[in-house]
Order: sequence, then structure tokens, then C-alpha cells
Amino acid sequence: ALPIVAVVGRPNVGKSTLFNRIVGQRLAITEDRPGATRDRLYSKGEWLNKEFFLVDTGGMTFDEGDVLANDVTKQAQVAVDECDVIIFVVDARTGITTEDLQIAQILRREKKPIVIAVNKIEDHKKQELDFIEFYSLGFPVMVSISAANGFGIGDLLDEVIANF
Ligand code: GDP
Ligand code: MG
Repeated sequence: ALPIVAVVGRPNVGKSTLFNRIVGQRLAITEDRPGATRDRLYSKGEWLNKEFFLVDTGGMTFDEGDVLANDVTKQAQVAVDECDVIIFVVDARTGITTEDLQIAQILRREKKPIVIAVNKIEDHKKQELDFIEFYSLGFPVMVSISAANGFGIGDLLDEVIANF
């Protein structure tokens, strides 16, 4: 079976944009509205001849009227249970939020490899301090990316497949 890579993170950090960037198809739904992706989406990805399944976990518990609608911790837990490697996406423009800390707390308990993708880095120099802030989450493997323009995606995937 192919390894499973889960894309985890709070709403609006760019999970679906990253998913689309990696699989090269516009399969996931990207929207400004948090929780826009209603279903978990799987697709095959490949990097340097290594294949894997990528899971866009965004909004997988999202349902209007559901008390668990915004329970990002539950979303993260389910994704973490079933995957081999975790890409934890965070947003360099907003910095660390309470939801990021909640997700980090869950991921810390796991023995699975975690790569932090610090997204929305379009100006590497200007955003260096914004990037460094995320080291305080306690996961040493971090890559700065722009899912929107493709910057850093190769470096990110290098770190991901190093765990297969
Ligand atoms: P998700 O909720 O985590 O799946 O986030 P989306 O992929 O739907 O993206 C949320 C918003 O962030 C959208 O408006 C995207 O266009 C924007 N976005 C995603 N990636 C980037 C990026 O690399 N840079 C910038 N500036 N915006 C981004
Ligand atoms: Mg999404």
C-alpha cells in the first residue's frame, strides 16, 4: 500500500491550495470561507518517483448545525490516526493562533513524522521572523512555502518522502 500523507491545519491556512499544488489538479475546493472543503479528499501524489496518497483533511468534520463543526482538534486526530506522515500547515501572515496550538498539542503525542509547512511566504526576507516564530510549536522540521505560487514545494516534499 502507498504511504498516506495527511495535510492538517486550521481553516484558511491554505491546505486545499497546497493539496492542489502537490497533486497538480484542482480537486480540492479552495474558498476564503473557513471550512469550505466539506469532504476529505484523497489523491495520488508523486515526488522523485515516490508515490503516496495525499489527504486534504480540511473541514472533514464541518457540517452546519454540527456542534463539532469547528472542532479542529477532532479533525486533526482522525487524520493523524490513519496517516504515515503529517504536513501541518500554518499561516505566516497570521502567526500562531489558539487553534494552531490545539492541533500542535495533539500532534505532539503521536510518534508519526511531522513536517510543518509555513505557508503564505511570498517574500522570504520580509517574512523571516514570521517563519521563525513557528519553531516555538516544537516541531523541528519546518519548510517555508507559498502554496499559491509554488515556492518551497519541492523542499517540502523532500522532507515528506524522507520518511517513507
Ligand atoms: P484551507 O481552508 O486551509 O483549505 O485554505 P485554502 O486553500 O482554501 O486557502 C484559504 C485562503 O488562503 C484562500 O484565499 C487562498 O487563496 C489563500 N492562500 C492559500 N495559499 C496561499 C499562499 O501561499 N499565499 C497567499 N498569500 N494566500 C494563500
Ligand atoms: Mg480546504
